[in-house]
Amino acid sequence: MPAVLEIEGLRKTYRSRRRGTRRALDGFDMVVEAGQVHGFLGPNGSGKTTTLRTLLGLIRPDGGRMELLGEQVPAALPRVAGRVGAIVESPQFFPNFSARDTLSLLAGAGDVPRTRVDEVLELVGLRERAKERVKTYSLGMKQRLAVASALLKDPKLLILDEPANGLDPGGIREMRSLMRDLATSGMTVVLSSHILGEVQLICDSVTIISLGRRVAAGPVAEVLAQHSGGGYRVRLE
Ligand code: ATP
Repeated sequence: MPAVLEIEGLRKTYRSRRRGTRRALDGFDMVVEAGQVHGFLGPNGSGKTTTLRTLLGLIRPDGGRMELLGEQVPAALPRVAGRVGAIVESPQFFPNFSARDTLSLLAGAGDVPRTRVDEVLELVGLRERAKERVKTYSLGMKQRLAVASALLKDPKLLILDEPANGLDPGGIREMRSLMRDLATSGMTVVLSSHILGEVQLICDSVTIISLGRRVAAGPVAEVLAQHSGGGYRVRLE
């Protein structure tokens, strides 16, 4: 399987007067193969958000090499942006808009065919309640609406920062089934999480980050078996 995301030796140190100097990424490596649901697992503050924001050109790295869909980023971002869907911040929705209105608005702004709105509503399981106002939705439904917005352009790769955050077990199961459906349709999904159980439930493969470095990567079952065997220690949460 070809890699759809490749990161080598990524480095980033934040320097601010208020927060001082913080090394967020210290030579981080990551490879994600096509067709996988890949977990990006690490404790709070380990560098996940910095990695994802850097990949998407929102943060300038100090060094390292990154590729998305076989193209070097950030240089090729304008070319690949239409094939990569991402949510790296919780999107704010208008509470009085319905899911369909929200997506139609985004589709219009992004030059997406109107028929795609109903397709993505179906994909994320919101078709039945598409006309109800977003303020009546559960957190899980709002998260699925966020995923729907990232799916409008029918991306090859979907990048989600903590999509299961705050969901109850039912919401996590729904998220799992959505991620599985997307992978079956040929999409590659990368999702970050600080909760081992979530990644175990949802993902095929995983990269574990700690203190801005990769400490393990591979198929979820293999990596976690090694982990519980004490081959290395990663403190989560
Ligand atoms: P979380 O799950 O809490 O978002 P994370 O794994 O996504 O954590 P990052 O948000 O990438 O981690 O943070 C990595 C390190 O960089 C942390 O030590 C954090 O305090 C620091 N950091 C993040 N953003 C900034 C910033 N804008 N200025 C200074 N330091 C920052």
